Amino acid sequence: MDFYRICAKVDLNAIEENIHAVKLRCPDQKIYAVMKADGYGFGAVPIAKDLEKDDEIYGYAAATAEEAYELLEAGIKKPILILGFTFTHSYERIIREGVRPVIFTKKMADDYASYARQLGKKVFCHIGVDTGMSRIGYQVNEGSADEIAAIFKEHSELVPEGIFTHFARADEGADTSHTDEQYAKFMHMIDMLKVRGVNFKIRHCCNSAASMEYTKDKLDAVRLGVTMYGMWPSDDVDHSFPIHRAVSLVSHIVHLKTISAGTEVSYGGTYVAKAPTKIATVPVGYADGYPRSLSGKADVIIHGKRCPIVGRICMDQMMVDVSDVPDVAPMDEVTLIGKDGDEEITVEELGDLSGRFNYELACDLGIRIPRLYYRNGEMVEKKKFYK
Ligand SMILES: *Cc1c(COP(=O)(O)O)cnc(C)c1O
Repeated sequence: MDFYRICAKVDLNAIEENIHAVKLRCPDQKIYAVMKADGYGFGAVPIAKDLEKDDEIYGYAAATAEEAYELLEAGIKKPILILGFTFTHSYERIIREGVRPVIFTKKMADDYASYARQLGKKVFCHIGVDTGMSRIGYQVNEGSADEIAAIFKEHSELVPEGIFTHFARADEGADTSHTDEQYAKFMHMIDMLKVRGVNFKIRHCCNSAASMEYTKDKLDAVRLGVTMYGMWPSDDVDHSFPIHRAVSLVSHIVHLKTISAGTEVSYGGTYVAKAPTKIATVPVGYADGYPRSLSGKADVIIHGKRCPIVGRICMDQMMVDVSDVPDVAPMDEVTLIGKDGDEEITVEELGDLSGRFNYELACDLGIRIPRLYYRNGEMVEKKKFYK
């Protein structure tokens, strides 16, 4: 009963199948598995360990140096790329461990080069290019191209391994005009650098949505996040893509009773029973990352039947109306995300109902939730924050 309060079950087969389905659309590209935010809340280390054996995965992408270190400490050997800004106190370790940083200013290049000289090491750089996100990266112009060319000329410690940009609107379906503009800018930057004698082995621009459906040349690598985890990049991408759901969130009933008409449930008494109502208490709350804004909106599934959450979701508990579930009993399974019988609750459904976003909901799955990893229906690994 170790995991009865709550657990997130992660299906490793589903993740591999999602990668494979993307690979069929990117046959000539390397795939970076995006592991940021603890693997979108699913658990970066157990998943990366599993993907070490998957030939379709070339390397991993983290958002921060600390996320890269976590993978390294777990023995991950494939290349790790950091997609975000890295602060100088991390440079030394990054260089020593061969992690790939993004570079987008002269100062970053000079600092990396100076540490690399001291360590007698090379830095495998990925130049970041801002083609429309206005987030990080070089602006696309002759001045930037001159500066990048000068950087590689001046510092033999810096190896131009990669160049990348990030699309702001690749998930908007059929109208690709904005993505086309960003793509054209990116190719222009690559061309300007080519003229200056700087060539990159790994040019990459596609996130999940673009990996799935962008029709231009996807270049040398794609960065696969949300789709790998069995979630949709948006409502507008082509849903004929064979996505496999990879996570379910499961709890169990800890208390059961019938309340009389007029009885209030939870803080603020926002729900009042209209008739005698059978109420189950589920020991999961917003501290687990289950949004409080789903109070009175979302359902859970018990015995294959949807049961509405009633009253406010508390920090650690919630109440559901189980009047329509025959033979319900304490310790019965409660599915908060996933499938039970013919019913299914997706991360997207909860994202929509809570006014949030499927990505956000997944990354917010709390540290109180043990993650259990399944292969061919059998638990093969677990990750717990509390012992
Ligand atoms: C998060 C991120 C990705 C992955 O995006 P998905 O939509 O989850 O595939 C790719 N590239 C960069 C730069 C990112 O920050």
